[in-house]
Amino acid sequence: MSEPFRDFDLLAPTPEHALVAKTVREFVENEVEPQALEHDRSERFNHELFRSAGALGLLGVTIPEAYGGSGLDATGGCLVWEAVSRSDPAFALSMMAHAILFAHNLAVNGSEEQCRRILPDAVSGERIGGLCMTEPEVGTDVLALRTTARRDGAGWILDGTKTFITNGGVDERTLGDVFLVYASTGSRQISTFLVEKGMEGFALGQKWKDKLGMRASFTAELVFSGVRVPDANRVGELGEGTVQMMRNLEVERLSLAAMSVGIAQRCLDVMIDYANERTTFGRPIREHGQIQRYIAETFAEWRAARTFIYDTARRIRLGDVGQRVDADATKLFASQVGKRAADAAIQVLGGYGYMGEYVVERLWRDAKLLEIGGGTLEAHHKNLAKDLCRDPGIVRD
Ligand SMILES: Cc1cc2nc3c(=O)[nH]c(=O)nc-3n(C[C@H](O)[C@H](O)[C@H](O)COP(=O)(O)OP(=O)(O)OC[C@H]3O[C@@H](n4cnc5c(N)ncnc54)[C@H](O)[C@@H]3O)c2cc1C
Repeated sequence: MSEPFRDFDLLAPTPEHALVAKTVREFVENEVEPQALEHDRSERFNHELFRSAGALGLLGVTIPEAYGGSGLDATGGCLVWEAVSRSDPAFALSMMAHAILFAHNLAVNGSEEQCRRILPDAVSGERIGGLCMTEPEVGTDVLALRTTARRDGAGWILDGTKTFITNGGVDERTLGDVFLVYASTGSRQISTFLVEKGMEGFALGQKWKDKLGMRASFTAELVFSGVRVPDANRVGELGEGTVQMMRNLEVERLSLAAMSVGIAQRCLDVMIDYANERTTFGRPIREHGQIQRYIAETFAEWRAARTFIYDTARRIRLGDVGQRVDADATKLFASQVGKRAADAAIQVLGGYGYMGEYVVERLWRDAKLLEIGGGTLEAHHKNLAKDLCRDPGIVRD
């Protein structure tokens, strides 16, 4: 019997995906890994490395070829975020915030003119972008955002503050280049605007220092004080911001889930090597039942999370909305797998696990963000329970 389905590789369904996987693997080994610990310690974003990622095409995997990208799908993106996170989740976060939250979001929702003007420089890494959703007083409850955009002649005036914005700056004095900003344009109406460095009234607020993890990504407050934005920078129709946001959150959550399995894989790698090398009571620690449990449970969880993620990536049609059950569920599951894996790895390494040079303490700190950013665990509980109770058929399919 012919069984071609057995040849299907969820992680490399086409030669283009295999090429992305190879490119990113080499990039991580040669360029990302050597700088990861130092940039974590100094809390500095590696702007030069970001440009190298652009030069290799890794910032434009899901962007249409017409704008300089590779035109691949969610699987292509996940391969990149997963691989970079094995080494440096903070750098992966900066790449992903730029490539998915900003560039991919614009590619899906922007006009031809906006895409032509902005995306080639975003794909090459020449300009760095981000997404402004969260505000000092509004996170999970995002539809209650307070930043306003009011009409002023042919354009708009934006007022408000956004916080925790990844890529908000590249260093203490330098604002990021270009942002998608969600703002209220009327009662219960959210619209999206492109705000660019150099627009009067747009400024870098405080840099968040001393974060628990993800220290090599730049997290900032951005201030909009009467920023005049031309109508040509409105993205999509008025009031379309909510659906744009929901659509982008789906691929963002999947991408963050992919980062979590990258963390889990590295932790597994480290704990297996250590269990083979370390001896206590005259035996390699791999022979102790409790150590075996850490390794076995982490392996099973990592495999399950990874398969779930790539199966979801295969199904997700970029640009569509309405796939949030799996997107939320992948992140709900994988983010906890990543954190448990890092915790298990530290435990297996004992005192060495607590030390920076053994990597897993950094991954442990980074992993926690994935239970918060892009939607908290509780937000996923809420969404999933709501969707499943409304449509129990999802489970019976
Ligand atoms: C390092 C980092 C990078 C980030 N990057 C970006 C970025 O680039 N762009 C951006 O816009 N944002 C970004 N964020 C913000 C992030 O998405 C928010 O922190 C997150 O959505 C949670 O919002 P909050 O912090 O305001 O928490 P809140 O919404 O205030 O939540 C506080 C607590 O209450 C819980 N809670 C809230 N509502 C409910 C409910 N209905 N039921 C049960 N529990 C509930 C939450 O789960 C949480 O435990 C980033 C955050 C961090 C830390």
